[in-house]
Amino acid sequence: MIDFRKLEKLIKENKSFLITTHVNPDADAIGSEIAFYKVLKKLGKESKIINHSATPYNIHFLDTDNVIQKYEPAIHNNFIQSSDVLVALDFNKADRMVSMWSVFSETKSVKICIDHHEDPENFVEFKFVDSNYAATGHILYDFVKNTGIVDIDNELAAPLYAAIMTDTGSFRFERTTANLHRITAELLETGINPTEIYNQLYDESKLSKIKLLGRCLTSLSLIANNKIGYMIITQKDFNELNAIESDTENFVNMILSVEGVRIGILFIELKNGYKVSFRSKGKIPVNKLAGLFGGGGHQNASGARFRDSQMTKMIPEILKETELFYNNNSEG
Ligand code: 5GP
Ligand code: MN
Repeated sequence: MIDFRKLEKLIKENKSFLITTHVNPDADAIGSEIAFYKVLKKLGKESKIINHSATPYNIHFLDTDNVIQKYEPAIHNNFIQSSDVLVALDFNKADRMVSMWSVFSETKSVKICIDHHEDPENFVEFKFVDSNYAATGHILYDFVKNTGIVDIDNELAAPLYAAIMTDTGSFRFERTTANLHRITAELLETGINPTEIYNQLYDESKLSKIKLLGRCLTSLSLIANNKIGYMIITQKDFNELNAIESDTENFVNMILSVEGVRIGILFIELKNGYKVSFRSKGKIPVNKLAGLFGGGGHQNASGARFRDSQMTKMIPEILKETELFYNNNSEG
């Protein structure tokens, strides 16, 4: 059980807060930041949201007051170092902060983490963490509801709804429960518009993203008796189509829509290194698989980043490890 009273106390006893999230933020990351920011604002606290990454264009609408800033050491270090509390949302490993880790780690303020991933690192004083939650936005909902610290109006409901909707794959992943639907119903009762939120997130894509999806799907190959599928996106693809990394969000899930496939892998070549996304069906803990490569995540969705090796060289090795891992974990 998360100690919500403790979190409430930390908020009430302090004045200024830095809010941050992981590299390549998704709608749970941004939605949770905005929701937490709005809670603090209602309480008259001073806070700033500062992230390593810029907000992806399709999520930007959640930042209604345009308050999220992209980290610049010269501009932000003073604020960060003088904040009473540093709040890490939707991640639990230091390296997910990338450029912000150095100021975060050096700052002496109280640090807290609110998150729903497994295996949290010890990088903060207070962890409000439970991997049974469907989303960080779901934790924040429970926090606000249980403590009654503020009212849940439509301004707060919109980012929480976006967080929960996206992290459950639009209410289809494992942690979609009757209770979560009750919470969702309550959020909808504040008057937010689910059609509009879905459209903004998923149906306002740039043409370049859809073209990239086409090219990515063309690369789909199956191995291990069609139990493992993988796709590859290279820098050449990004450049030729004028697409960006955040366009690849959710592409990897397409692999699992092929009959019989239990593990999907997407290899993405970055400007500097590469990223691998793993997805699975059932009880195949791909967070453990990603862990073999220094990454992590959830049982059915995980990832790892590599900065120092070449993607094309490493793909056969990662596929070999995945096949071994599948053979040892495929009963579920
Ligand atoms: P995605 O494949 O969508 O980038 O990430 C899926 C999940 O895997 C994320 O929610 C996050 O929990 C985890 N993840 C992705 N990349 C990394 C990484 O480099 N390190 C760790 N520890 N987790 C990651
Ligand atoms: Mn999340």
